[in-house]
Amino acid sequence: MIIIVLFGKPGAGKGTQAEFLKEKYNLTHLSTGDIFRYNIQNNTELGKLAKSYMDKGDLVPDEVTIKMLEGEVGKHPYSAGFLFDGFPRTIAQAEALDAFLESKNESITATVALEADDNILVARLLERGKTSGRPDDQDEEKIRNRYDEYNQKTAPLMDYYKAQGKFHAVDGIGSIAEVTERLTSVFDKF
Ligand code: ADP
Repeated sequence: MIIIVLFGKPGAGKGTQAEFLKEKYNLTHLSTGDIFRYNIQNNTELGKLAKSYMDKGDLVPDEVTIKMLEGEVGKHPYSAGFLFDGFPRTIAQAEALDAFLESKNESITATVALEADDNILVARLLERGKTSGRPDDQDEEKIRNRYDEYNQKTAPLMDYYKAQGKFHAVDGIGSIAEVTERLTSVFDKF
């Protein structure tokens, strides 16, 4: 089974590229941000819990996120592979994911980071906030908080996956098609 982790800072274009990659490589796309937002819209218990963290640009607690992700994977027993987008975002989540996959005799194939400069990304998010309706996109302070969360909690994952020989980086600046092209040339080697 192909299992890819796509990561990158908020606004790096994970969601946009995932739409293309899931089709091309026949992967089930699981975006934790999208799943949380779906739960918020439907006012579920999980949604109510996640909302207070997300609105501030904080990460949702690990136990909640890990349990949710495992449940989502369980909904796709016949999947040929997975594309995780926005998960894992902490070392604890990465360790939990490795243990979970191992219990199913599976493991991560590779991780790919979309890299981009913070100032370009903040500008992209503020632009997206005008139409996305996402409270966490509309205020520069919340956006900066998401970058602090990323730098403190998510950036260490690069070394975690480098140590496993599973880390790849792709330049996320350029047109959507250019970035897709770069990702495809990395994916085609897996
Ligand atoms: P972005 O990467 O643009 O910030 P996402 O849609 O991936 O957007 O995530 C939005 C918010 O959802 C995050 O700021 C966080 O509050 C929550 N979230 C998403 N994935 C996780 C995760 N793996 N762990 C904890 N919180 C998460």
